[in-house]
Amino acid sequence: MIRRSYRGLFARHNSWVCASCRASFSSSAASTAKSKLPQTPARTRFAPSPTGYLHLGSLRTALFNYLLARRTGGQFLLRIEDTDQKRTIPGAEQRLYEDLQWAGLQWDEGPTVGGPYGPYRQSERTSIYRKHAHELISNDHAYRCFCTPERLDTFARHRSSAGLPPGYDRKCADLSHAESEERAEKGEAYVIRLKVDDYPMFNDLVYGKTGQKRSNSKLDFIDRVYDDPILIKSDGHPTYHLANVVDDHLMKITHVIRGTEWMPSTPMHMALYNAFNWTPPSFGHVPLLVDKNGQKLSKRNADIDLSFFKDKQGVFAASLINFSALLGWSHSQKSDVFSLEELEQMFNLKITRGNTVVAFEKLWFLQKAHAQRFAATGGPQIDEMVNKVSSIVESTSSEDLSTPLLQGRTLHEYVAPLIKADAKSYTNAEEFVARNSSFFTSTLNRAPYETSAEPSLVSALHTAAAALCLVPESHWDVESHRINISSYDGSSAVTSISNTSPAPTTDDPEKARVVADKAFKKELYHYLRWALTGGAPGPGIPETMAILGRAESINRIQQARKLTASNAAEKRRRVPRSTQGEEERDFKWMGSLAPQ
Ligand code: GLU
Repeated sequence: MIRRSYRGLFARHNSWVCASCRASFSSSAASTAKSKLPQTPARTRFAPSPTGYLHLGSLRTALFNYLLARRTGGQFLLRIEDTDQKRTIPGAEQRLYEDLQWAGLQWDEGPTVGGPYGPYRQSERTSIYRKHAHELISNDHAYRCFCTPERLDTFARHRSSAGLPPGYDRKCADLSHAESEERAEKGEAYVIRLKVDDYPMFNDLVYGKTGQKRSNSKLDFIDRVYDDPILIKSDGHPTYHLANVVDDHLMKITHVIRGTEWMPSTPMHMALYNAFNWTPPSFGHVPLLVDKNGQKLSKRNADIDLSFFKDKQGVFAASLINFSALLGWSHSQKSDVFSLEELEQMFNLKITRGNTVVAFEKLWFLQKAHAQRFAATGGPQIDEMVNKVSSIVESTSSEDLSTPLLQGRTLHEYVAPLIKADAKSYTNAEEFVARNSSFFTSTLNRAPYETSAEPSLVSALHTAAAALCLVPESHWDVESHRINISSYDGSSAVTSISNTSPAPTTDDPEKARVVADKAFKKELYHYLRWALTGGAPGPGIPETMAILGRAESINRIQQARKLTASNAAEKRRRVPRSTQGEEERDFKWMGSLAPQ
C-alpha cells in the first residue's frame, strides 16, 4: 500500500528530488561520474522477483550491477526476491537463471552456486527477517500494529473524503511492550510497522542529493499522520522493504544500481538503515526506458521478455548486451560496438539522467557489427550461425542442392564462407536465407537486365564476364577473381557510359582511360550481380563466384548471356545492320561460352 503511494507521488510530482538537483537534471551525464567509480571492489547484486521473466529493463539493471562488480574486481550476487509468493510465476526463476547465463552474466554468489551469505532466496530467509523486525521492536524503532483491515479502511476513506492525504494515525505505537507481547501471544493478528518521523535525503550516484524533506504543516499538529511502513505482514512474511534492506546489509552489498521506479522507496530504506544503525550501500538509480514517443516501455512496445529477442528475433547475446549497456550509459570511445569483456574493462558510472529512449535500429546495427566480428574471429558463434542457416535451408528447400551447388561440399562447408562474406548484413538466420536465396536454388529467376548502357558496352560486358570464367578450377578463389576483375581493362569498351550521358572528355588520355575503365567496372559489377544472383544484394562478386563454384558460376553467366542475347536480338531488329557484325566477332574466341 505504502509502496504504491510513494510510487504515485514520484510519478506525479517528481518531488523526491530536491529543486536544485532537478534543475541540473537537464545536463546529460553526471559530471563527477569518474570519481564515482568505487576505488575498492564493489559487491553488487541483481535482485529480481520471479513474478515475470527477464526483460530489457531488468537485463540492463543486471548488466550494470555485473559490470560495476567486474570493473572494480568485486562480486556480483544474484538474490531471488520471492516475498510476494502469490505473484510468483512457476518456472520464472529457472528462466531467470537460463536468461542471465545466456547473456553471459554469471553470478559469483547466489542460487545454484551458493556463497557465504546464503540462502539467496528470500522465501528461505523468513526467520532472519522476523528476528530483525523484533530487534527493532525491542529498541522502539518498530511496533506491532493490531489495527484491523476494517479500521484502516474506514480511516483511509474518512481521510480521502475530507481531502486529506493518506497516512496512519499511529494508534498502536503507544501500546506498552507488555500489552503488545500479550496480545501477540494470545494470537491476535498484527503487522509490524517501522516508526519513521523523517525520511532521510540520500546522495544518489546518478541523480545527486535526492529525497523529500518533510516539513510539518499547521495541520500536522492537530491531525498528524505517519507513513510508518509495514515490515512484517499479518501472515508473518516480510515486506519487500525489510527483506531488501536486511539482505543487502547481511550480504555486504556496497552498491545498488536499480531502476528509478525504486527511487521513491529509497528514503524509506535509508530510514530502515538508520533504525538498524547500519551503513547503507551507495544507491544509483538508472533512468526509465521509454519508446520514441516518450511512453514507458511495456509489453505493447517491446519491453518483452528476453526470449523475444533471443528465440524469435535471433539476436546474439553479445548484441543485446551491447545494446543494453548503451541504454543510459555514456562512454568516450569512437565506436559503440563492445563485447561483454570489453565492457567489463571500461564500465563506469557515467549514467545519463532523464528517460532513455530505446531505438531498436541500434540493436540491428550492433547485431550486424557483432556478426562481422564473429566472422572475422571464428569460434562457436560463427558455428552456431552456420548451423542455424543450414538447418533453415534444409527444412525449407525443396531442391536437391548437392549437384549444381554443393559440388562435393557439405551444406555447412557451403554456408560458412557465405556467412563470412555477407556478415555485414546478418540480422538473423531466417532473414539471411531470404536475402541470399539465390545461393540456395539452381533455378534463378532473373528479370531482364536493366541498363542504360549502349549495346556495344553490353557486348563488352559479356566478353569480360566470359573472360572471368576462363580461370581454372585450381585457381577458382576470391583472390583470383578480385585480381582479374580489377586488372581487366574496360576503358576501350566505353565510348559513352550510357545512351544518355556521354563519357567525360579530357585532354589527358591517361585520365580519360581511368575514367572510362571506372565506368566500365561499375557496369560490369552490376551485370555480374544480375548474372550470378539475379541482382540480389549480398556478398561481393569475387566472393559470390568463389562460393557458387566454377561450374555454377559459368552456368549462370551462360544463362545470363542467353537472356541478354535474346533481348539484344529483339533490339537488333530495330538497329542498323552494320553494327551487328561487331558483336558476333567479339565472342568467337570464347568457345563453349560464346553465344549460340
Ligand atoms: N525485487 C525488486 C525488483 O524486482 C528489486 C529492487 C531492488 O533492486 O532493490 O525489481
